[in-house]
Amino acid sequence: QAQTKMAAMMDLERTYIMIKPDGVQRGLIGDIVKRFEQKGFKLVAAKLYSPSRAHFEKHYEDLKGKKFFPSMIDYMITGPVFCMVWAGKGAVKTGRKMLGETNPADSLPGSIRGDFCIDIGRNICHGSDTVENAEKEIALWFPEGTNAWTSHSQGWIYE
Ligand code: GDP
Ligand code: MG
Repeated sequence: QAQTKMAAMMDLERTYIMIKPDGVQRGLIGDIVKRFEQKGFKLVAAKLYSPSRAHFEKHYEDLKGKKFFPSMIDYMITGPVFCMVWAGKGAVKTGRKMLGETNPADSLPGSIRGDFCIDIGRNICHGSDTVENAEKEIALWFPEGTNAWTSHSQGWIYE
């Protein structure tokens, strides 16, 4: 009973993490997945996917007025992206920290952007910024739903 309740709480927070076309092209899928796995987050969905321009415009609709918007969408549709949902306590906030700052130049070494990229327009990854946006993004990218499973490490990751 207590175990079931603990599992439910740890699965409650989910974040949408996406490796952009430059990250896929540069062979960084494995490195990025590895960091989230090693941290202790649980992968509940993943796929390589080539969405339409309209799909990206929806995903980035908050940025529609920005000058860089059209070229940013051009970049996003150059090839497949690797879409993931990671679950765990504090997954949204910690996921953002693991990615680093939007501009790789401001990202500390040890973060994904700090270690693997240079330009803001080629910053290799996306991560949800709030729990609310995470759920919106998960619904947009994984309408088929995510996978429920119990990690055998659970009791070694959570107190
Ligand atoms: P994020 O949440 O850290 O990814 O940052 P935002 O939501 O503010 O922006 C979304 C994405 O748009 C960023 O990851 C960048 O790829 C791109 N972007 C943001 N600001 C700029 C900019 O000033 N120039 C360019 N070229 N791209 C930008
Ligand atoms: Mg953002």
